[in-house]
Amino acid sequence: MNFVLHGHSVSNGITIGHAHLVSSARLEVAHYNIPADDVPGEVARLDQAFEKVRAELTEVAQQIPTNAPAEFAAFVDLHTMILNDSALSVEPRQLIAETLCNAEWALVSQMERLVAQFEAIDDPYLRERKADIQQVVERVLKALLGHPGTAPQDLSAEGELIVVAHDLSPADMLLFKEHAFGGFVTDLGGVTSHTAILARSLGIPAIVGLHHARQMIREGDLLIVDGVQGVLIVDPDASVLAEYRLRQSAFDLERRKLKRLRSTPAKTLEGTPIELFANIELPRDMAQVLESGAQGIGLFRSEFLFMNRRQLPSEDEQFEAYREVVLAMEGKPVTIRTLDLGADKALQSTADAPAPMPNPALGLRAIRYCLAEPKMFLAQLRAILRASHYGNVRILVPMLAHIHEIDQTLALIRQARTTLQQAQVPHAPDVPVGGMIEIPAAALALPMFMRRLDFLSIGTNDLIQYTLAIDRTDDAVAHLYDPLHPAVLQLVANVILRAKRADVPVAVCGEMAGDPLLTRLLLGMGLTNFSMHPAQLLEIKDRVLKTSLPEATLLAARVLRSNDSQRTRELLRKLNA
Ligand code: PEP
Ligand code: MG
Repeated sequence: MNFVLHGHSVSNGITIGHAHLVSSARLEVAHYNIPADDVPGEVARLDQAFEKVRAELTEVAQQIPTNAPAEFAAFVDLHTMILNDSALSVEPRQLIAETLCNAEWALVSQMERLVAQFEAIDDPYLRERKADIQQVVERVLKALLGHPGTAPQDLSAEGELIVVAHDLSPADMLLFKEHAFGGFVTDLGGVTSHTAILARSLGIPAIVGLHHARQMIREGDLLIVDGVQGVLIVDPDASVLAEYRLRQSAFDLERRKLKRLRSTPAKTLEGTPIELFANIELPRDMAQVLESGAQGIGLFRSEFLFMNRRQLPSEDEQFEAYREVVLAMEGKPVTIRTLDLGADKALQSTADAPAPMPNPALGLRAIRYCLAEPKMFLAQLRAILRASHYGNVRILVPMLAHIHEIDQTLALIRQARTTLQQAQVPHAPDVPVGGMIEIPAAALALPMFMRRLDFLSIGTNDLIQYTLAIDRTDDAVAHLYDPLHPAVLQLVANVILRAKRADVPVAVCGEMAGDPLLTRLLLGMGLTNFSMHPAQLLEIKDRVLKTSLPEATLLAARVLRSNDSQRTRELLRKLNA
């Protein structure tokens, strides 16, 4: 059946390929139909998996040490109870028979139903028990995957597979970096969630906020991801497919043409030089950075080195990662942001992970967490300072809002430096320290930042989130997440203007810097340093090369006088057409 779903595009381009359904990177579940004759076999497979997990849980129960806390045994009992409940062990058997689907799919579908019922419960303790159901299901799935069924495996190579997921965490996306998927689509997610940012860094078309995509799409379905319009077409007919193949070639041709600009200096029509820097998550992004011709790294999101692992990376491991990037940049600036953990970028459950918070985006995130964990923070600072010996390193501190946070951070940097000096470990004598302006308080109290710091970088992703009180990861409010809101534009323009007046270097490293619709506006506000994903850099350079600065200045003044973001958007679209 042919149908179309609409969502929010988070990464441009068009891709055509086959659906690959995933539940999360760690828990991949295929959906396929089985012949009616195979129903008894499929049910038996499910029963065997339940038996296996029952035996596992019995073994765990027998091995609990006598001095273990009482909760331990209670948990094992609870999981056994869940496993034996007919809602989990009987219902999926019926689903297999009624819908002729595979056992994994039946189990996960039933789990999602049960989890939805738990989510509706008021009592927070009972609500949280949904996690136990998920854990039990995960165990059964693992047992099933040990005896996989036979999915119709006529799927093509990875490059033509499109990941279809209910939701993906940044940690999941990081794992996807190791594969060459053609695109991805999710039911949930906001446009500047870290998951969306990672998709952009992969340079593959992506759409979030599609609501029921994962339920409606089946493994192997033919899909068109139109990342230009935010449209997903499932099982297209021949004429639509032909039309999209044409559009895809035109888009790819434009991309190839842009590659010619790689070594062209970025300057406006009048010759004003503009610095175009790259954002990276991991050293392995460097190949893409070098291909883009970036003049520096404006944001190295170091927290990604800490994700998808049970133990924190040691000082030496961090040092190696930072040095790899510094050496690859051959003396060009490398801005290493100190850990921005928290909110949607969670540590896996280690002893070091912060306790669950009621409101993580407003909680112990980024610099707040680092200052609460000085031992971990000092190890990172020493690793960065050691890497500074090999090139041009700058330290960037996220989520600053208070004077004492800046002062404490600077004191810890001095302490890290002293330790290295005493141990005679080489490091650069002068490493500039900058602050991210991503909390409205920071944008409004700029002088205290400029007096203490060497440079500023505006993090528009969080600045928008905190100015408009819109969770950037929540697709339910994604339509209210508006970079062109007059309050956001006033804050951004003011920071640029005041920093320029005080002769403090200022950059934008949030997603606004990589949006070609906004390039002229930001240039008109006086911005001369943009940092973005390497995949976006050449398109932005193309815009810069075609921009007249006096015209852009007039445009910015006009936009800043307006209170209507819709009209601003139309105006920018017209100017960029
Ligand atoms: C930002 O907030 O704009 C930013 C660049 O940081 P992050 O997206 O990693 O929060
Ligand atoms: Mg941020």
